Amino acid sequence: MSDIAANLARIRERIAEATARANRPAGSVQLVAVSKTHPAAAVAEALGAGQRLFGENRVQEAAGKFPGLRADWPELRLHVIGALQTNKARDAVRLADVIESLDRPKLAAALAQAMQAEGRRPELLVQVNVGEEPQKAGIPRAEAADFLRACREEHGLPVTGLMCIPPAEGDPRPHFAWLAELAAKRGLAVLSMGMSADFEAAIACGATHVRVGSAIFGARG
Ligand SMILES: *Cc1c(COP(=O)(O)O)cnc(C)c1O
Repeated sequence: MSDIAANLARIRERIAEATARANRPAGSVQLVAVSKTHPAAAVAEALGAGQRLFGENRVQEAAGKFPGLRADWPELRLHVIGALQTNKARDAVRLADVIESLDRPKLAAALAQAMQAEGRRPELLVQVNVGEEPQKAGIPRAEAADFLRACREEHGLPVTGLMCIPPAEGDPRPHFAWLAELAAKRGLAVLSMGMSADFEAAIACGATHVRVGSAIFGARG
């Protein structure tokens, strides 16, 4: 087995264990394999090991890697998970099955326009800056409910869930729990939270999608 296949097997096992510990149904947590900075060959290796769902944080990088892979693996699904500039909205809509980083009114408007132009409607997650960190993307906690309403009612966007990246320091669980509560209140089914270092905690708090990069593909250069 290659390192990537072995790493994937181990992560799937840990996801299954964490799901069982949380008394949640088997298979209720999906693994988004984050392949940013790793070549298409690494993604192909993961595909060969049965992985079908991938995450990339830069649209341009994803556009270079994924169209070729999709030709061979039509059931591949791609999530765009990184901060998105409005001038990349159209490329993101063309490429992604899910865009996880909707975080401001200007981007909501740009995505609505891009969806109309492209005739394609990827699902959207609203990213919340749960730690209120000034350098981080995401709508502030206090504005999240109003922003969700505007995305759905003013722009008619297909928002299906929430995403967050808690502060690197400290216990992520209060942040995960806060996001889960907002999702429940708003009737949103998808909760993307948890990365290599904290995905088990995220599963305990209700994550439906965990985004794992380095624990599968190795450290980023
Ligand atoms: C890179 C990245 C990840 C994966 O991080 P790892 O620590 O490598 O698992 C998850 N989510 C987002 C938004 C990322 O940019």
